[in-house]
Amino acid sequence: MSNDKVLRGPPANRLLAALPPKEFQRLRPKLELVTLTFGEILYNAGQNITHVHFPNDSIVSLLSVVGERSSLEVGIVGNEGMAGLSVFMGVDISRTQALVQGTGTAMRMRSEALRTESDQLSPLHRLLHRYSHSLMTQISQSAACNRFHTVNTRLARWMLMTHDRMGEDTFQLTQDFMSNMLGVRREGVSKAAGELQKQKLIRYSRGVISVLDRVGLENAACKCYQIIKDESDSFLGARPAVGSRN
Ligand SMILES: [Zn+2]
Repeated sequence: MSNDKVLRGPPANRLLAALPPKEFQRLRPKLELVTLTFGEILYNAGQNITHVHFPNDSIVSLLSVVGERSSLEVGIVGNEGMAGLSVFMGVDISRTQALVQGTGTAMRMRSEALRTESDQLSPLHRLLHRYSHSLMTQISQSAACNRFHTVNTRLARWMLMTHDRMGEDTFQLTQDFMSNMLGVRREGVSKAAGELQKQKLIRYSRGVISVLDRVGLENAACKCYQIIKDESDSFLGARPAVGSRN
């Protein structure tokens, strides 16, 4: 496929094709035809995203990376989408890695050009985009967390996330609820909560949890907690400490 042919004809990427023709014509000069090769990394987690890509017949895999050797595919982007959505949501750095899984072509646009487009949005839109990114990070990180991390560290992470939002050291949580949250049987939750209790990090009795040692609980949780928290703090600012936090 030559650049000219692709740019003259209707766009192969369905997202671009869904644009009103006039709007596509306006954006066309900003789009460049590139070939993406199997195994190519478009951006790494924590790296600056220089370009966004609208695949034509290439496929990009989005991976949530936990630890040095573990990663999980949390999304697949083909001709229906765009790799580099973080840029549109007002974030230059993604928490996921974009890896080319299928060789083919894509239309790419410089991140700056896309950012200029999204700058036209209202403050509420921009804020909600930023929040969407934060929630997306939470979802993809949780998916990888559920696959690779132990019930104990996941329970600690989940209690910290609840503690942050409750603003109080004592809150109600039934075993059934925790069992659903973590996707494990009630016995598994009991065992994990028992271990956190044995370490004097929490007190758990009849569906009521008290956080006794906030710092200890943070140390017991997996890194996913901090990754998710950093993401929301980065645009909302950190909340002041409450209760047992020290
Ligand atoms: Zn985790």
